[in-house]
Amino acid sequence: DDFLSKTLARVKPSPTIAVSNLAAELKAAGKDVIGLGAGEPDFDTPQNIKNAGIAAITAGKTKYTAVDGIAELKSAICAKLKRDNNLSYVNAQVTVATGGKQILYNALMATMNPGDEVIIPAPYWVSYPDMVLLAGGTPVAVEAGIETGFKMTPAQLEAAITPKTKWLIFNSPSNPTGAGYSAEELKGLTDVLLRHPHVWVMTDDMYEHLVFDDFKFATPAEVEPKLYARTLTCNGVSKAYAMTGWRIGYAAGPQPLIAAMRKIQSQSTSNPCSVSQWAAVEALNGPQDFLAVNNATFLRRRNLVVEMLNSAEGITCPTPDGAFYVYPNIAGCLGKTTPAGTKITDDQVFATALLEETGVAVVFGAAFGLSPNFRVSYATSDTNLIEACTRIQTFCAALS
Ligand code: PLP
Repeated sequence: DDFLSKTLARVKPSPTIAVSNLAAELKAAGKDVIGLGAGEPDFDTPQNIKNAGIAAITAGKTKYTAVDGIAELKSAICAKLKRDNNLSYVNAQVTVATGGKQILYNALMATMNPGDEVIIPAPYWVSYPDMVLLAGGTPVAVEAGIETGFKMTPAQLEAAITPKTKWLIFNSPSNPTGAGYSAEELKGLTDVLLRHPHVWVMTDDMYEHLVFDDFKFATPAEVEPKLYARTLTCNGVSKAYAMTGWRIGYAAGPQPLIAAMRKIQSQSTSNPCSVSQWAAVEALNGPQDFLAVNNATFLRRRNLVVEMLNSAEGITCPTPDGAFYVYPNIAGCLGKTTPAGTKITDDQVFATALLEETGVAVVFGAAFGLSPNFRVSYATSDTNLIEACTRIQTFCAALS
């Protein structure tokens, strides 16, 4: 243990991996397991994007590229930010990395000093607080519960800001809740930030294109142009384009920050995969109509899951605006006992018992910083979802 870095002691092992491991063990033992844990679309990467990757291989575009991305991809990103978000950037303000994850990691490594605080609304994507800790900063979680639709209020943000606050990490639509902030709700938060010029905003727009009903996506620098000089707008092709395995994420922001992020990347991974970059050019520049087709499928599944979970005894499931997750509350199940005799004391016990007794794998809420809840990813077939939700209903009805 002495051999390992003391930095590791600051970071928790991923609680979501514990659930996946148990699910895999049960599956290997022959149990009929339905996994609702995966954070990736079950759709295939569109053919035109695959073809662009194949063409890149054939053309020999298989060598090192510029550390933080080829010019063609940076130009496609600038065009996308103008088209979708009305944000003007030039290539030098853009950086490309191996997934949205590396973008966030680079940004935190490039900016954290000991004592620096980062405000993270909870429930949050599991990696935010641990990345802040790895980079030597201090995560400050702000609980945004079911009462406010899992959204942080301006008053909560105001109360969390201290002289040491460096970043607010903002994520809408959210993983794990699917909650999206309207432009008006977001304006409430950006107004607070205007009063605190030392606080920057790192916005994780990964689920921008996965939105439903009449929800309109908004991003901080668009809603409040005065924040342009202290906003890092992060995004990627993983979720919307079903490209999780290609590993391409990107960000746009102030040039000195982008240069610092490039420096970190130059001494760690160098360029993101050359072939994937060409595929991402096609993803951003090519036809976008499949997005609406995929969203129609996600919408149908969302409605199915929300309705079935709300019919389960003791569960309340809000209807999200986007992404492919729901985050039901299980307050009505706490204190009860499962058929196998487990007393449900918290959401981790609930999720473990649900997996062991019914074969349905979900991620417990404590992993995302807000309990008592669990996260369901509905990026799987209707058949799986109906079967899983039926099992959850039966499980809840049998609690005593
Ligand atoms: N941000 C959020 C909110 C996510 O849910 C994910 C993936 O789960 C990422 C970033 C990372 O995406 P990528 O696969 O591009 O690294």
